[in-house]
Amino acid sequence: MAAAWQDVVRDAAAVREAAAVAVDAALLAGVLMRTGEQPNASDVVNYAPFTLLPSAVPRALFEQAYSVQQDFNLLVDAVSQNKEFLEQTLASTIKVDDFTARLFRIYMQVLEEGLAQTVFLGINRSDYMFDCGLDGTAALRQIEINTIAASFGGLTSRTADVHRLVLKVLGKTEEASQLLPNNPAKGLALGIAKAWELYGSQRAVVMFLVEEVQRNIFDQRCVENELWNRNIRVVRKRFRDVFEQGSLDASRRLYMDGQEVAVVYYREGYVPQIYDEQNWEARLLLERSRAVKCPDIATQLAGTKKVQQELSRPGTLEKLLPSHPEAIARIRATFAGLYSLDEGEEGDRIAATAIADPDRFVLKPQREGGGNNLYGEELREVLEKIKDSPERTSYILMDKIKPQPALNYLLRAHSPLQVSECISELGIFGVYVRQGRELVLNQAAGHLLRTKAIEHADGGVAAGVAVLDTPYLL
Ligand code: ADP
Ligand code: MG
Repeated sequence: MAAAWQDVVRDAAAVREAAAVAVDAALLAGVLMRTGEQPNASDVVNYAPFTLLPSAVPRALFEQAYSVQQDFNLLVDAVSQNKEFLEQTLASTIKVDDFTARLFRIYMQVLEEGLAQTVFLGINRSDYMFDCGLDGTAALRQIEINTIAASFGGLTSRTADVHRLVLKVLGKTEEASQLLPNNPAKGLALGIAKAWELYGSQRAVVMFLVEEVQRNIFDQRCVENELWNRNIRVVRKRFRDVFEQGSLDASRRLYMDGQEVAVVYYREGYVPQIYDEQNWEARLLLERSRAVKCPDIATQLAGTKKVQQELSRPGTLEKLLPSHPEAIARIRATFAGLYSLDEGEEGDRIAATAIADPDRFVLKPQREGGGNNLYGEELREVLEKIKDSPERTSYILMDKIKPQPALNYLLRAHSPLQVSECISELGIFGVYVRQGRELVLNQAAGHLLRTKAIEHADGGVAAGVAVLDTPYLL
């Protein structure tokens, strides 16, 4: 796997030439980000970080990841409709984790009132690493599934073209022709458009619920523009705008300053820091509304690490998807070892094992967005401290995946060109739409490969650790 570009990776002159071409190609193709200094203006922009070379990915594992995506869509949708399961699964977590508890409270509140929403749209991204076994064979292992604000589907729709050009510059025309086309932006827009259509009001708009700091706006614009191409109006609003301008009519239709909203697509709302009381109020207003939320609050909860861990318990998938034994087998084949830290003997035992051998595990709180997990010595210290307190139930433990590293160059603005030992994470985008109880769309919508240097245990592209990549299937 690691050997794909051995002949060129140490050829300094060839690499320098290819890197210059690559950066300009990325700028031309629109693989862009705003700068850290001016995150809310497009006067000065730069290229989003990416690898010089496409990374080798085993074809069989790539195909396996695609073939299980519709199953994961089905599973997330089933979890989101199963109140009993969510209640039981999150019961211990919400006692100690205030953020999850607050989301859960809104979930219960909207259920009690009765849902006004009848059309449901899910956009998720299931992330995997390739675990290298003792015999050298790699296995597909799910890291997590993101059910809210799964990003980079837009920018990555443009990276294959850049890598194709790089390979040509390096004299690898044949290999260049093998890079797969990939257009998640189109797939995501298809789902949003379908939900908009089923909502059934020509005048209504799609609202992107966006961050205060909008560095990654071009990724979102890719999806927005696909919607405009379909003559669907898009507006960009923040939680504070919703607080100031949002209202519901008697049938709980959502209006922003008099303009009806058919679909709310969240690119924000998954970290506690952004919620003040006004933003919580805005969130509740959105959830109570008839508008199609992507995701609704139940689906956001379905994406928590605690739910992921409970899904891996024997018998759980069978209860959630009773008539889908084949889907269950495909899903389970991607699971890594996941362990509950709930109070009791089971949790005591695994906590002790992890303290004795921390490098085997990752300790994960109920947070999204990268940089929250604990590894190695830090894992040991934290677990040692909380092992006898209820606080430990706000975390889960997971087997650490150990991929085979490969050499590559991570191209970042203002950074020197240097070779790094890297590992990759493959994400598959899933899109589904449900009307009442009937699933009317269920698809895999494209892929995302992110690559990082091995010295970083954690973190995504937005966090400044991983970079965009393109799979080269072997
Ligand atoms: P987040 O919701 O913050 O993205 P993730 O579960 O995706 O949380 O973890 C963040 C990053 O940490 C991943 O992108 C991956 O690089 C690393 N990571 C997470 N779980 C594991 C694991 N089990 N083994 C190895 N690395 C992991
Ligand atoms: Mg992640």
